[in-house]
Amino acid sequence: MKDKDKKVTEPRRRMDPDTRDPNMAILMGKCSQNGKTYGVCLKRQEKNFWLVEVAFKISDKSANREDGAMNKLEERFYLGNEYYCPYCEAKQMVVCNVCGKPSCAREGQRDFACPHCKNKGIIKGEVKSVRSKEDI
Ligand SMILES: [Zn+2]
Ligand SMILES: [Zn+2]
Repeated sequence: MKDKDKKVTEPRRRMDPDTRDPNMAILMGKCSQNGKTYGVCLKRQEKNFWLVEVAFKISDKSANREDGAMNKLEERFYLGNEYYCPYCEAKQMVVCNVCGKPSCAREGQRDFACPHCKNKGIIKGEVKSVRSKEDI
């Protein structure tokens, strides 16, 4: 076995929002309980398929600086075991289909109000996205 075939597993410490790795993405989410901002760390698994690794508290100041990666969630994603909202510890993540931004949701929750744009809708589907009433 050649050396370069060995897969090097990096330690899970990629919490830096300034990362430029194209296979990593940081999104800005909001807790639907308290409206506070958190960062969501995504890692590409395959083309158009992202693992939501972890979420971490972030100050509103740095949240304003970083708002560019939202289109990542038009692709497919799934939630890793280590993901939970850093504020209320809800284990689901939903993406608003109006503003495209993620926020937290509790297990089994159906009704949803987006803390970013105040869109209201029903949570549906495997991708945990939320649709506005117009789409139903
Ligand atoms: Zn939350
Ligand atoms: Zn929204």
